[in-house]
Amino acid sequence: MPPGVRLPEEALAETFDVSRTVIRQVIARMAQDGLLIKKSNGATCVAAPTKQEMRQILTVRKMVEPEIVRGLARSYGVLSFQELSDHLTLEDNARKKNDRATLVRLTGEFHLHLVELTKNEILIKLITGLQALTCLGILCYAGDDDACPDADHRQVFDALQCGNAQAAADLMLHHLNHIEESLSLEDGARELTVSKTLDWLSVRFRDEVRR
Ligand SMILES: [Zn+2]
Repeated sequence: MPPGVRLPEEALAETFDVSRTVIRQVIARMAQDGLLIKKSNGATCVAAPTKQEMRQILTVRKMVEPEIVRGLARSYGVLSFQELSDHLTLEDNARKKNDRATLVRLTGEFHLHLVELTKNEILIKLITGLQALTCLGILCYAGDDDACPDADHRQVFDALQCGNAQAAADLMLHHLNHIEESLSLEDGARELTVSKTLDWLSVRFRDEVRR
């Protein structure tokens, strides 16, 4: 669901055929992770990171993720990168179909596949949280261009496959800079409205928001 949108507890309970208690438990957990925001009037909304928060999130990612791929490239020959390769095929398919909602999800998952290969639970938790917030931020601040530069993931993958640790780290940093540049994060830059976000995302969620 797009950032800023109010979560309809009752509709969710009906849709998933569970009690509202279950929905509330899930909401509480996602609020703890920063993905949902509890408003003072009791409503729950999907988080919409501020520009400053987005800059901070990307700063941390730029510190951590180049080192993740550097480590993975050093384990070249020990780790299997087959799952990453399959994932890149899915990204290509979504890109061909111009399915942006799926593409935002898949491009995020690429980073999760990478961190999962480290088997480091602390890192996995950190990047999972940052990645989800980045997705929401992309939906808030991406311009008309895609925030998922086409070739970046494949270049990181190619460096991993060759075991080239320095190239993998450099390419990951370049990729995260690329994402940051594609977002309108300067103060005073235009804020996207929910309706613009929806146009960007295609009309998939529009009816839900109007209700
Ligand atoms: Zn990426």
